[in-house]
Amino acid sequence: MLKGRSAVVTGSTSGIGLAIARALAREGAHVTINGFGEAAAIERERAALEREFAVAVRYSPADMAKPAEIAAMLAEAETAFGAVDILVNNAGIQHVAPLEEFPPDQWDRILAINLSSAFHAMRAALPGMKARRWGRVVNTASAHSLVASPFKAAYVAAKHGLAGLTKTAALETATFGVTVNCISPGYVWTPLVEKQIPDTMKARGLTEDEVKRDVLLAAQPTREFVTVDQVAALALYLCSDAAAQITGTNLSIDGGWTAQ
Ligand code: NAD
Repeated sequence: MLKGRSAVVTGSTSGIGLAIARALAREGAHVTINGFGEAAAIERERAALEREFAVAVRYSPADMAKPAEIAAMLAEAETAFGAVDILVNNAGIQHVAPLEEFPPDQWDRILAINLSSAFHAMRAALPGMKARRWGRVVNTASAHSLVASPFKAAYVAAKHGLAGLTKTAALETATFGVTVNCISPGYVWTPLVEKQIPDTMKARGLTEDEVKRDVLLAAQPTREFVTVDQVAALALYLCSDAAAQITGTNLSIDGGWTAQ
């Protein structure tokens, strides 16, 4: 389906991003993966993707908090593969604390990585997509782009912002064969969710099991976590030709959370 296309997936050394990178590679796209982690583990993953799917896979260590590194990552991907046809803005971090105790440096970092990085990456990728008259941008937002939860001020602000940025970008690219959408997962069991459990226990005075049952899965009517492969399948669909008329949307994949 995506043979000959080239994709950049930010934050793809783990979790949802890695599942999306795998799904795109499986369909024949060359991929640039990005994110932090142990160098040997990232190299193993990169090489495995190449071997398994017979596509070229590059790794960029660009920090999504740094605009110059984002621009360089996109320029290098374009040079290496001749184009960036698909951009998945997925890198994201979380911090859980009451607003009046929320560390300002965490606020700045979350806004930079979860929101501004998508602006910088689109700014670099859209001219080529428009010139070639084909492009797909998939922004990983969240149910928190539609509804709020307490103690997640920066994350909720950034994800609402990402949904708005997506709409504007979609309108500006609509006549160029480029679509820009967000996908908004509910709780997906990944390291990002696992890491926020201790802070949520502290902020709400709950045990680990109570956080999972009464905070996380309580939000989702299905009472089940979303899987990374389900999110990747939705991202892949948005990259298909069947989705050519879907642009500017925010697609929920949240077990019914935002229907409530
Ligand atoms: P994760 O922690 O497993 O993965 C996050 C990825 O982002 C990792 O590859 C990490 O190295 C990378 N990353 C973090 N900071 C970075 C930086 N400064 N520069 C480059 N890469 C960086 O988390 P995940 O759950 O897979 O989250 C992926 C996206 O999905 C995030 O945007 C998150 O907000 C969103 N999301 C997650 C859930 C969930 O329940 N897990 C729900 C809704 C939305």
